[in-house]
Amino acid sequence: MSKADKKKAPDRMERIVNLAKRRGLVFQSSEIYGGLNSCWDYGPIGVELRRNVKEAWWREMVWSRGDIVGLDCSILMHPRVWEASGHVSGFTDPLVDCKKCKSRFRADHPDVLAKHAETCDGELTDSRQFNLMFRTFMGPVEESANVVFLRPETAQGMFVNFGNVLDTQRRKLPFGIAQQGKSFRNEITPGNFLFRTREFEQMEMEFFVKPGEEAQWYDYWKKERFDWYLRLGIKPDNLRMREHESDELAHYAKGCADVEYKFPFGWSELEGIASRTDFDLKQHAEWSKKDLSYFDEESRERYVPYVIEPAAGADRATLAFLVDAYDEDEVEGETRVVLRLHPRLAPVKVAVLPLMRKDGQPEKAQEIFAQLRPHMVAQYDQAGSIGRRYRRQDEIGTPFALTIDHQTMEDGTVTVRDRDKTSQERVHESDLLAELLRRITG
Ligand code: ATP
Repeated sequence: MSKADKKKAPDRMERIVNLAKRRGLVFQSSEIYGGLNSCWDYGPIGVELRRNVKEAWWREMVWSRGDIVGLDCSILMHPRVWEASGHVSGFTDPLVDCKKCKSRFRADHPDVLAKHAETCDGELTDSRQFNLMFRTFMGPVEESANVVFLRPETAQGMFVNFGNVLDTQRRKLPFGIAQQGKSFRNEITPGNFLFRTREFEQMEMEFFVKPGEEAQWYDYWKKERFDWYLRLGIKPDNLRMREHESDELAHYAKGCADVEYKFPFGWSELEGIASRTDFDLKQHAEWSKKDLSYFDEESRERYVPYVIEPAAGADRATLAFLVDAYDEDEVEGETRVVLRLHPRLAPVKVAVLPLMRKDGQPEKAQEIFAQLRPHMVAQYDQAGSIGRRYRRQDEIGTPFALTIDHQTMEDGTVTVRDRDKTSQERVHESDLLAELLRRITG
């Protein structure tokens, strides 16, 4: 990164955080009480954006395929799950404390340590391992027998339900189980807005395959997942795949790669794709004493399937789409902020704007607004000049704006303005719904 880029980088992130707050995408959690560190609330616009990200993932991973089913398991699971999975003994990060300012840091994050050294000359303690799982108690008695954990990942839900899905869904290998939901990690150094938080949402899928077929499916899922981000508009220059070195791999893993995005704070993981062998199912079979093997009708063999796992974060993906879409350009001599979000992801799909507040235009616009609302998120706006109303929509990434003007009252056509091209064309009101749906899903 050049010096000039480094200087620019925090600015861009700051501008995005400011826009997010100003336009109701993301607020600080419990803001009126001073906020809660690393927790964020999605506002009326942001909640739509993240829902659209999650829906785009679900559409691609579950609805549009014949070989993956969904699941939604509870956040609190039997504590044994986390012993079997290795989280109780091994889900730790190395931690150091500053003896002077008492701050805590990840010992394996040299950039964070260097930043601290710039402001404080305190001596650091030796590093020790810190378990990232949140613990709580189930029931009224707070004793060790009642300890449960808030899940640090959604993946274990798929492994422990593997038998249930197999028994009830009549599935043949290869097939996958997908889940989206909250996970919790007591991160030592959260930060960078939505990037690393202590409560976040994951989108994970376990794809079960016949042992021996894992290499081809690993390659397949790496490509699929990488392309998903591109299809939803991420600029190719900002996305890369990083294959893990063999010393980064867990002992059971056959391969692991991260989809990384070039955030203003540097290249960082968006999603991991891992070839995990039969480790997870075998661990649960051993700890639960239940058979989690699969009978292959074709080869008449019984075996424990291997698994390929694409594990993404809904908040990280939302942040990447937001950062990638953020743009400032000039329209009619004025700087405008525009979110160039893919229409599928855009929180509001269409704005309905009467040009004048007279001559029946507001009534006509309300009528069109009411027709569109059941089909897509729409906003009605009649306040201020038409230019200012376009700018307001550009800032939240609304791909289409309809203007109802005097000609509408005569021939029933409205102008459709395209956010990116800022061009306008007239479409008859009876064709509007079909035309907009075509452009959003197309
Ligand atoms: P990192 O190295 O950044 O801590 P990880 O490799 O531990 O991430 P995984 O356990 O593979 O992450 O989790 C899968 C995905 O879940 C990540 O790629 C990321 O998108 C998301 N995720 C993990 N931890 C967090 C977090 N603290 N905040 C937001 N998203 C997260």
